[in-house]
Amino acid sequence: MKTLLYLAIAILFSACNQSHNKDSAKNSNPPSPPPKKKLVVIAIQPFVDMPKENVDYVAQCLKKMYANVIINKPIEFPKNSLNQAKTRHRADSIIKFLSAQTKPGYLTIGLTKGDISTTKNTPDWGVMGLGYCPGKSCIASSFRLHGKNKMEKLFKVAIHELGHTQGLPHCSVNDCLMHDAEGKDRLDQEKEFCKKCKSVLINAGWTFN
Ligand SMILES: [Zn+2]
Ligand SMILES: [Zn+2]
Repeated sequence: MKTLLYLAIAILFSACNQSHNKDSAKNSNPPSPPPKKKLVVIAIQPFVDMPKENVDYVAQCLKKMYANVIINKPIEFPKNSLNQAKTRHRADSIIKFLSAQTKPGYLTIGLTKGDISTTKNTPDWGVMGLGYCPGKSCIASSFRLHGKNKMEKLFKVAIHELGHTQGLPHCSVNDCLMHDAEGKDRLDQEKEFCKKCKSVLINAGWTFN
């Protein structure tokens, strides 16, 4: 909803801008350039279990789509994030924790190779990732990913969750990266963001070649 509203505002703004340019031409005043939107910084926050080369891989891929990416020093899981059986970390607790320590102008993506869960079909449903929509934080896990392109899949999970933080809900387009995984690894079918999802991200400063 917010996204729709934002798009509507953006369209309105460009419409106003156009007529303003015409007026300026009449008055022979050079049109002023539109103000540049400040990009938020995407901070990659590895947890201590995550191998450095996996963190670097995600950062490297992300930098091709987004200019402001930093990598934070690895941290321990928050104390309260283990589930009752102490087998998995609760993704909900992790993103709440990450959000609380995210400064204005930043958004944080946590990376772990450990198993994470949320409450969905069962109270402790294992997931590949979770993110606020919209919000300041998300988490991606490589635990449920297999195959020789495991890291490529992790990157897809990461940008899916980042997409949520940018306000993108799940998308009905089959091969769109915002398609709901519904508990399955169908990441090989998901090629890229669809046109509609892409346009929202482009508005937020992402670039796609
Ligand atoms: Zn999702
Ligand atoms: Zn889409």
